[in-house]
Amino acid sequence: MNYRHAFHAGNHADVLKHIVMARIIEHLKRKDKPFRVFDAHAGIGVYALDGPEAQKTGEWQGGIAKMQAAFAPEIEALLAPYRKVLADLNPDGGFMCCPGSPEVIARLLRPEDRFTLNELHPDDYALLRDRYYIDARAGITGIDATVLMKANLPPPERRGLVLIDPPYEVKNERELALDALRFGIRRFATGIFMIWYPVKGEDFAEQICAAFQNLGIPAMLKAELRVRESFTGGGLAGSGLIIVNPPWGLEAELKVIVPALATRLGIGTWGQGVVEWLTEAKA
Ligand code: SAM
Repeated sequence: MNYRHAFHAGNHADVLKHIVMARIIEHLKRKDKPFRVFDAHAGIGVYALDGPEAQKTGEWQGGIAKMQAAFAPEIEALLAPYRKVLADLNPDGGFMCCPGSPEVIARLLRPEDRFTLNELHPDDYALLRDRYYIDARAGITGIDATVLMKANLPPPERRGLVLIDPPYEVKNERELALDALRFGIRRFATGIFMIWYPVKGEDFAEQICAAFQNLGIPAMLKAELRVRESFTGGGLAGSGLIIVNPPWGLEAELKVIVPALATRLGIGTWGQGVVEWLTEAKA
């Protein structure tokens, strides 16, 4: 396992993912009933953007660094939970402390909600455990994401979100992501699942979306952000999220947020934001 998220934290893909996660969590909080969030590929939780890894790649310069200026008020209203996480983490201003998905979860869930953070890399697992073990709402595991699905779903609360966010650095990782969803949804059919995928190469994004579509699972919404042209050997040109069982109202919100992010984070005139259904909800 070579991938370490510290080199990529705060890039355009993290910005999209964490904003959408924060929106989903806000929807779940609209009901009094507690819920649970599973972060199957958690990373370490918080990243220092002045640390050696982030400084080496500078990826955050094309992501979170461009989020300083305010958007139009109707967009800021939707970004408010994400903005709050950033502000609480950086009480002296600026964004030098960058949240990972565990921190977005920990800062937005209520005392009665629960979360499970899972990370397979032993060093990152240790950092994750040391940061969150003190939180009574948290469970922390260091197992394979698919095993996590098999062992822990459905949660006793019977409502919640499962984040599947693999690095796609090993050859069969696309199949593993498909498996994680297939196993997960079989056990927790009413859960909200959010799967991240990269836009890279000639047509990686088109292929993975087609593969998810072919699973035949209803109610899959796609939100994709491209910041530049994608070509073989060209690295990460964007990213997308597949959201299964999205809360009512999320689609309309993403149709406001994603194009605004594309304009802000796109390089030159390249920014593209697409929100569309991959499969329809059951009538
Ligand atoms: N979700 C994090 C966030 O938004 O801050 C970023 C996660 S990063 C893209 C993917 C993580 O998955 C890495 O930390 C990697 O070590 C971990 N990982 C890779 N393969 C895994 C597996 N099979 N099961 C669980 N975690 C895995």
